[in-house]
Amino acid sequence: MTALFVKNYIKLLIICFLVFCPTTSYCKKTYEEKRESMVQWQIKDRGINDKAVLDAMSTVPRHLFVSKLYRSASYSDRPLPIGYGQTISQPYIVALMTEYLKLEKDDKVLEVGTGSGYQAAILSEITDSVYTIEIIEKLYERTNEMLKTSGYEKIHTKFADGYFGWEEFAPYDAIIVTCAAEFVPPPLIAQLKIGGRMCIPVGPLFSIQNLLLITKKSETKIETVVITSVRFVPLIRE
Ligand code: SAH
Repeated sequence: MTALFVKNYIKLLIICFLVFCPTTSYCKKTYEEKRESMVQWQIKDRGINDKAVLDAMSTVPRHLFVSKLYRSASYSDRPLPIGYGQTISQPYIVALMTEYLKLEKDDKVLEVGTGSGYQAAILSEITDSVYTIEIIEKLYERTNEMLKTSGYEKIHTKFADGYFGWEEFAPYDAIIVTCAAEFVPPPLIAQLKIGGRMCIPVGPLFSIQNLLLITKKSETKIETVVITSVRFVPLIRE
């Protein structure tokens, strides 16, 4: 009789733990701790030192941008699947690209490839004017809903082919493309301000690409610098 009582009591404790754990400071602290070590080991130690970027990476709860299946790996040093054959980028690449955009608080930034919304959330910690475009309708709907209900409602989202940019709100101080293009889309160059920066992976699809930093020097002149080699999912065309 006592043994049965103890067994049921333990069962009840386990159920309570599983149900209430995600809301306790213990579990939150675990994610915070994971995030802090991600920032230290994966980002600061690899040379990212822009304070705004580090603060953003320390603030945004990356685990909320991946499905429950991958939540325990959400702070690991790699990209993760987000469904529809797409991925959320490795944290270091998110930080690196954001740092190269050299965003100021009043800057207007366009992202091509909303995906999970994580990169857009990072940008929104630095500036209030974030515009992001996604071409997969179901992913757009899911992420749009998530952003609107998780405190990121000020991010402007659009379901469209990001190759054409978002003319209505152009020009942009910065553009970030989180899918690989075979060449830099001319509409994106056109929608960049003079002095504006664009970070974009360019190269063969499903292979190694160059991550480029493009600076628009004048209406007719752009400067291109190769940052590093990367492997992004392709920029899909309509
Ligand atoms: N920035 C995302 C990474 C997403 S992966 C994140 O933080 O999670 C690249 C995304 O680009 C995918 O969601 C893919 O559907 C989207 N994409 C691919 N081609 C596109 C296009 N032409 N226009 C807009 N989005 C595109």
